[in-house]
Amino acid sequence: MNEKTYAVALAGLLQDVGQFAQWAAGKWGEAPVGGIELASRYVPTPWRAACCADEVMRVVALADWLAAGARRADRGPRPRQLRTIFSSLTVEEQALAPEEARYWPLKPLALEAEMLFPQAALSEEARAPAYEALGAAFVQDAEALAQAHQKAAAFPAYLESLLLLLQRYAWCVPALPDVSLYDHSRMTAALAVCLKDQSEEMLKALEGDLEQSTEPVALLVGGDISGVQDFIYTITSRGATSALRGRSFYLQLLTEALSRYVLRELDLPVTNLIYQGGGNFYLLARPSDAARLGEIQRQISWRLLAHHRGELYLALEGAPLAARDFFAGRIAAQWDALRRRQQQAKQRRFAELGAELAQLFVPQGMGGDESGECSVCGREHPDIAADAETNTRKCQPCRDFEALGKDLRQASYLWLREVPPTSLPETPLSVKPGGWQAALGTFGLEAGVSARVEMLPQPDAGVQLVLALNDAAVRDLAPGPRTVVGRRLLVNVTPTLTRADIDALRDRQLDAKELAELHPDTVKPFSVLELQARGTKRLGVLRMDVDNLGLLFSEGFGKAATLSRVAALSFAIGVYFEGWVGQLAERANRKHGDVLYSIYSGGDDLFFVGAWDVVVELAREIRVDLGRFAAGHPGIHASGGIALVGGKYPLYQAAADAGEAEHAAKAHPGKDAVTFLGQTLPWAKFGLEGACAANTETVHGLRHHLEQLVLPEKEDGLGATASLLRRLTQLQLAYETALKARRQAGTEVNRQGEVQGVWGPWMWRGYYALKRMAEQERAEKERAIAALAERLHEDHFNSIDWIGLAARWVELLLRDL
Ligand SMILES: [Zn+2]
Repeated sequence: MNEKTYAVALAGLLQDVGQFAQWAAGKWGEAPVGGIELASRYVPTPWRAACCADEVMRVVALADWLAAGARRADRGPRPRQLRTIFSSLTVEEQALAPEEARYWPLKPLALEAEMLFPQAALSEEARAPAYEALGAAFVQDAEALAQAHQKAAAFPAYLESLLLLLQRYAWCVPALPDVSLYDHSRMTAALAVCLKDQSEEMLKALEGDLEQSTEPVALLVGGDISGVQDFIYTITSRGATSALRGRSFYLQLLTEALSRYVLRELDLPVTNLIYQGGGNFYLLARPSDAARLGEIQRQISWRLLAHHRGELYLALEGAPLAARDFFAGRIAAQWDALRRRQQQAKQRRFAELGAELAQLFVPQGMGGDESGECSVCGREHPDIAADAETNTRKCQPCRDFEALGKDLRQASYLWLREVPPTSLPETPLSVKPGGWQAALGTFGLEAGVSARVEMLPQPDAGVQLVLALNDAAVRDLAPGPRTVVGRRLLVNVTPTLTRADIDALRDRQLDAKELAELHPDTVKPFSVLELQARGTKRLGVLRMDVDNLGLLFSEGFGKAATLSRVAALSFAIGVYFEGWVGQLAERANRKHGDVLYSIYSGGDDLFFVGAWDVVVELAREIRVDLGRFAAGHPGIHASGGIALVGGKYPLYQAAADAGEAEHAAKAHPGKDAVTFLGQTLPWAKFGLEGACAANTETVHGLRHHLEQLVLPEKEDGLGATASLLRRLTQLQLAYETALKARRQAGTEVNRQGEVQGVWGPWMWRGYYALKRMAEQERAEKERAIAALAERLHEDHFNSIDWIGLAARWVELLLRDL
């Protein structure tokens, strides 16, 4: 890549960075002056002139106009504080009122405490010092970065470092009222690179009539990995716990390797990446790059076949963008068109390699435990070794995934290094599938994790990217001439087995053989997580994602859709699912003793396994905080499903069960629902309030209410509590039976087409049974049960369709099996 490409990208990033210097100098109130010249003081001397050149500034100005979907002059007064991107969304006719607008805090990006949640606007007096502090911190880091690059060894390394610096400091600084300087600058940089090779004639034409021009100016490229679910979950539960996390993390690394591979093949800098995560990536390329995608796709398929034998496939597609597509919200339709193409491409997996070759690679399912097959993945492999500790036989790829999963537990840093891709094999079959390192290597990426800075590899040549995986780890990083540093959000929650865990299990549920397979300081196996659940010993498997996400992107901004807004929304959703969800899970693990395991959380969806009782509470907290994070937007919510399974239940089946439960929630009208114990309810009815609000209005409230009501034990087991819970469960059951009978008889709606209440004598029997039960208890319990009966009665038995769910929940918590 030539230096001009980097210079153009750098100028795109820099154009408004001079403001930080003004704030650092205590001039927050003054209008920005100095432009790129002021900003370029942070650029190492050798590259300074290049990024200030007139021809560079000319394409940057066009790029800025395209990214924002409006000329600078038409963008109104300078915004005082960054409004959340959620405030600009209208979803199914729901939007936030202007007075409900919320603003991001003016602080460097960090997950600590409540820093991520939007708040009311700061007062003018509070704003100035906040900007000044932010400016001072940025200037300090930017100067250190420029210093590290004075010898100008690696322009791409400097560019990526600056991008990461902007992520940290400019994520909360407004470029537009609802788009951060970070998101807008990186999109400007990306478009500037796409425009830089346009002829003088074309630039003139664009400058004259940008908003109506049908000239192609960029290519939106999307990559989508398919086969992900089967790849992660089609492994046996034997020894799978570390392998599972390793596999899931590898897919994130593979997404990174593939997006960087495509960027490199197209000779584009990292600033052209719009988004990557969850097996997807989007990037901006030049219009002329469309002709090259086919060949790049073929090479990627060839390499993936060699290493994954048809299990994973990347659909790589492009959609051309004309200048006018960046205006009047048209960008969303182009995004949609790209997604449709990707869907079609997935239907023709490997077709680009020719039918004969593609047929050779039918994904292998799980086999048995035959001598040539791995006991984890069931695949045949020439290198299978016996593992005496767990009495299993594992193939080399599985052993490597397991080692990666283990390393991740202590990981504070992720390091990445771009290297030349290993040479293309003559035929995919000539390659023996190796570990994940070899698979990444074929795309030119080396990667690994490390617990401490001093344990990071020290390469002799090339550029190394070091990304802190938690807020504290950032402090120990310093940029170097060949070291790019920054923060990477990653949900990395892995429960660790301790000596105390094993001792506690010794006298109880595990036999000697099972105990012998447990070792302290390893990933806690599912069989132990299951036993550490409260009450009924079961694992909870949670799958959840944002409702209507496609619609949010394609229609949410309406005519106001711009490239910058789309980038801002991707970034914001990523911060929640790649960052905050992990904080919630870690908090729960601290409280309940390491019983949650994040298999995956990113993009807009997540998959957790853990002690079922904690998993349910986690799901609820994730939904509650998503609402807060989205500034209370009524149209932004998530639905999920929770399946309860045994620790030795087949993993792919558990994933499928949770998937079905999630699917049921997604079928609920208006969504925003959860499926738990086989019943689907809107979250509002399930209960979003905390445990302290034990009430009888929601399932969650009633569950805590009933738990507090635990009645004195009688001789025969649970006694009174059990019969109260049973009574409530029967009540709901009788209702459901009556409702079903009505449906079968076709009489559930009256002549006006209204659904009729299902009334029956069983309602009153339930009511009187509770009253009788109350009479048998001591004063306070008596009052509580009687109040429950009265409440049922007062709201016309409205809670009858979930009262049994709350009762069964408590029953499972109290039952010690
Ligand atoms: Zn294997």
